[in-house]
Amino acid sequence: MSQAAALPVRGETAVAKRRTFAIISHPDAGKTTLTEKLLLNGGAIHLAGDVKARGERRRARSDWMEIERKRGISVTTSVMTFEAGEHVFNLLDTPGHEDFSEDTYRTLTAVDSAVMVIDAAKGIEPQTRKLFEVCRLRDVPIVTFINKMDREARESLEMLDEIAETLALDVTPLLWPIGMGRNFRGCYDLVNDRLMVFAEADRKRFGAVIACEGPDDDRIGQVLDTEEHAKLVEDIEFVRGVCPPFDLEAYRGGHLTPVLFGSALRDFAVTELLATVGAYAPPPRTQPAEPRAVTPEEPAVTGFVFKVQANMDPKHRDRIAFFRICSGRFERGMKLTHVRSGKTMAVHNPIFFFAQDRGLAEDAYAGDIVGIPNHGTLRVGDALTEGEALRFTGIPNFAPEILRRVRLLDPMRAKHLRRALEDLAEEGVTQMFKPLIGAGWIVGVVGALQLDVLAARIAAEYEVEASFEAAPYETARWVTAADAGEMKRFIDSNQGSMAEDRDDNPVFMARNSWSLTRAMQDWPKITFSATCERS
Ligand code: GDP
Repeated sequence: MSQAAALPVRGETAVAKRRTFAIISHPDAGKTTLTEKLLLNGGAIHLAGDVKARGERRRARSDWMEIERKRGISVTTSVMTFEAGEHVFNLLDTPGHEDFSEDTYRTLTAVDSAVMVIDAAKGIEPQTRKLFEVCRLRDVPIVTFINKMDREARESLEMLDEIAETLALDVTPLLWPIGMGRNFRGCYDLVNDRLMVFAEADRKRFGAVIACEGPDDDRIGQVLDTEEHAKLVEDIEFVRGVCPPFDLEAYRGGHLTPVLFGSALRDFAVTELLATVGAYAPPPRTQPAEPRAVTPEEPAVTGFVFKVQANMDPKHRDRIAFFRICSGRFERGMKLTHVRSGKTMAVHNPIFFFAQDRGLAEDAYAGDIVGIPNHGTLRVGDALTEGEALRFTGIPNFAPEILRRVRLLDPMRAKHLRRALEDLAEEGVTQMFKPLIGAGWIVGVVGALQLDVLAARIAAEYEVEASFEAAPYETARWVTAADAGEMKRFIDSNQGSMAEDRDDNPVFMARNSWSLTRAMQDWPKITFSATCERS
C-alpha cells in the first residue's frame, strides 16, 4: 500500500475532529455566560455579542415573537460552530427559558454529548433534571460544570453526592475547588496534578499554574495558607478514595460524568472545560436507523432534520430545517433524496454556521448542522440521503406537560383548523390528540410559550381564530401492550381518558399524577411511555 493511501482521507479526519454538543441547565445557572466564554475561547469573538444580546432580550417575553419573526439572531445562535485547538465544535443551543419547548428536547437527539451546567449554590434543578433524562434516553455522555464558585456555594462533596444520587451516575472530579465565594482561590487539577490559582490582582483568570507531585507538595504551601492547604490535602485524599478514577468508556457510555468546578463569569476553568470536551467527548457517533445503522465515515451523505423553524415572514412559508449530517461530505447545491416523499431536492442555499466566517464554508461533514431553507417540505424526523431509503430512529415525541382543548371561534373553519393543527404537529411545534369520546381536539405542548406561537401561527398562516381552554388533563402517556386483548380491555375501561395521536397511537390522558400512578398500578401489563418515536 502506498503511503498516501494509508493516510486517512479528508472526511475521516474531519469527522474525528468534530464535537457536537449542547449545554443543558436550568435558567440562570449561567448557560449564556458560559456559551459566550466558550466562543471567546474558541476565537469566535464577534459572535459573543450576539449571544449576549439574545440572552438579554429573551428575558422579555414579548420580544421573543419579534425575534422569531426576524429569525436572524435566533438562527445564528441555534448552532454555533467554532474551532479551538485541533477540534471543530458544534454547540447547539437548547432554549431553556420561557421558550422551552419540544425543540429543546429534540435538539438533544442531534448531539453526541452534553455539558451540564449546575449553579453551585442550587444544585440540580428541575429543568436540568428533565434535560438530563432526555440525554439518558440516548446514553448521551455528560461533562458537568459546577458554576459560580466565586459565590457562596454548597459544599463541593455534597454537590458530588447530589449528582451521584439524583442522577444515578458515577462522578469523577477532574478539577477540585479551593475555597469558594470571596475565598475561592483556584482549583487543583486531579488529572495532571497541578495547582491553578487566581492572579491576586484581578481574580479573573488563573494567575499561575504550578506543576506538583501531589496535593501535599511544598510548592502548594508557598501559595495557599496552612489551613487552605490542609483542607485541600484532606479533600483530595477523600475524593480520590470515594470517587472512581476517570474511565473514558464509562463516560462515553453515559454512566460516569467528569466534574469541573469553575466560574463562567470569571472565565475560570472554561478553557479546561473546552479541553475536556475536546479530549474525551465522542466524535460523531454511529446513528441508529432502519434498515441499517449509519457510520459517520460512510462516503454518501445522509442525515436527518431535528428541528424546523418557521416563517421569517408570516406571509411566506419559509422555514429552515436544521439538518444533522450523519455521514458523507455535504456540499452546496447537492441533490438529495427526501426519503419520506421519494422526491429529489437540490439544496442550493444551505446555511452553514461557522462562527468566524459564517457562510463561507462550502462543505460540511458528519456531526455538522446545516440549515436548509424550504417551504414546508422538510419536517422533524425526515431523512435526506443520496438515494438510500433510510429512516433514522430515536427521534421521539415527548409527553406534553400542558394540555389544552382547542376552541374554534368560527365553526365554518373547522377543516382549516384541522389542517393547521396537523401541519404544525408534523412540523413538531405541538402535538395533537383526538379524544375517543366527544368532538374537538386537544393540543399538547411542553412549554407555555408554544401555545402563543401556535395561536399566532394559526391566525397568521391559516386565518383561523382559535382559543385554548383548560382541558381536564394534566399529562399524557402513550400506551402499549404485548397482548392486544389486554389493550382493548384497558381502552374500553378508560374510554373517557383515551385519545389518539396524529398517527392513531393510543394515548392515556391522566387527570393528575395520582390517576396516572393508579392506572399504572391497576394495569401492570400495559406499558405507559413518556416518549413515542416519531413514525
Ligand atoms: P442562563 O439563564 O443559564 O443563560 O444564565 P446567564 O448566563 O444569563 O446567567 C445568569 C446570571 O448569573 C447572570 O446575572 C450572570 O452574570 C450570572 N453568572 C453566570 N455565571 C456566573 C459565575 O460564574 N459567577 C457569578 N457570580 N455569576 C455568574
